[in-house]
Amino acid sequence: MTSAYDVIVVGAGPAGASAAWALARAGASVALVDPSHPREKPCGGGVTGRALALVADAIDPAGLTAAVIETARFADARAGSAAIVPLEAHGIAPASALVVASRADFDGRLLDAARRAGATLVETRVSEVAVDRTAVRVETPHGILRAGFLIGADGANSLVRRRLACPFRRDQLSIATGFFAHGVTSREVVIEIVPDPPGYIWSFPRPNHLAIGICTQADTGVGSRQLRQRAADWIRSTRIAGGASLAAYSWPIPSLHAADFDRLPTAGSRWCLAGDAAGLVDPITREGIFFAIQSGRFAAAAVQGPNAAREYAARIADEIATELRCAAALKDGFFHPRFTGLLLRALRHSGAVRRVMADLVAGRQPYATLKWRLIRTLELRLAWAWMRSGAPWA
Ligand SMILES: Cc1cc2nc3c(=O)[nH]c(=O)nc-3n(C[C@H](O)[C@H](O)[C@H](O)COP(=O)(O)OP(=O)(O)OC[C@H]3O[C@@H](n4cnc5c(N)ncnc54)[C@H](O)[C@@H]3O)c2cc1C
Repeated sequence: MTSAYDVIVVGAGPAGASAAWALARAGASVALVDPSHPREKPCGGGVTGRALALVADAIDPAGLTAAVIETARFADARAGSAAIVPLEAHGIAPASALVVASRADFDGRLLDAARRAGATLVETRVSEVAVDRTAVRVETPHGILRAGFLIGADGANSLVRRRLACPFRRDQLSIATGFFAHGVTSREVVIEIVPDPPGYIWSFPRPNHLAIGICTQADTGVGSRQLRQRAADWIRSTRIAGGASLAAYSWPIPSLHAADFDRLPTAGSRWCLAGDAAGLVDPITREGIFFAIQSGRFAAAAVQGPNAAREYAARIADEIATELRCAAALKDGFFHPRFTGLLLRALRHSGAVRRVMADLVAGRQPYATLKWRLIRTLELRLAWAWMRSGAPWA
């Protein structure tokens, strides 16, 4: 069986569903290929206000199954203390700084919106893709699909990326592993920055469970089994999930270096990559949902123009890569123990630094202006420590 479409989108996560929604609304015939729904993606599920604002025209954020987060607790294991950062919590509306959503629900709603707009969900796994000068060919166990354009939104292990560009190198990925702790929840995210290997442990509360995990670059020599053990030890020592039943997960997150953002392989003739498949994740916070939705929308807009690949690559470079390059350049300094120590002290005694951190968590503080905002808090030692930790400043 062969079916023909204007556009084939591989992967119905936030990137693919957003692209398919926008294309179908513009009148294109779209095949959205993904066999996994309904499914819970291994993820913290933290959806920032800016991500909710971006999808407010496709889904009603008020209907989401999500926990509204009131505070972020930055734990300092070495000092045995913590700093609490209040977040604006205005219900599940775009005005909230952060909600933590079930990915089954959030992604399912985006997918439903794309289908209602007219996209066809093809529930099968793509096994091969090929692009030539005239068309795109997508193989699945259930037949061949053809189209004029292909959007690869198939996540961190993207087949489309491996076939049409290049796979991620190990040093371009983070390992994220941990547990869903069923039967407990809260209104507070907990974050503990860890120095060795550099990364952080988190607990993100969803309506009926906590998503607890640890992430660090994949090339540190510490494997996912050891990391998961550290997450288990953390759960035990903090008693954060007493009585919960734990379900383990493990998944890669693209976490690129600053130089990678200068030569992202995002598009070619008749194809482009969106979301994780393109490496569009904040290398410090690992926020990826916002960039997945944003790049999916950019892809849909570009496909409707005369020079899709060039237009898409330019928009990604200007509107996403610039910001993520800044984050990548600051990453080593952020996880440096000297900076972390000063940060936690500043968070405890400075309301201005707490407000900066609340805006970073909510995705409202661009990295490009972070230095100046920190300097304006008069926490000069903090800003200086970050600079001295090897971070080139914008
Ligand atoms: C543990 C963890 C915690 C995270 N926490 C957060 C967080 O709190 N906030 C945040 O913003 N980001 C977080 N992220 C990152 C976030 O999960 C991703 O950036 C986001 O899901 C990317 O969306 P996407 O649509 O690009 O890809 P995905 O959501 O991965 O969707 C890809 C889709 O492609 C489908 N697919 C794959 N291969 C094929 C194939 N061959 N054929 C058909 N379909 C295919 C899959 O089934 C999947 O549905 C976290 C990631 C991890 C691993």
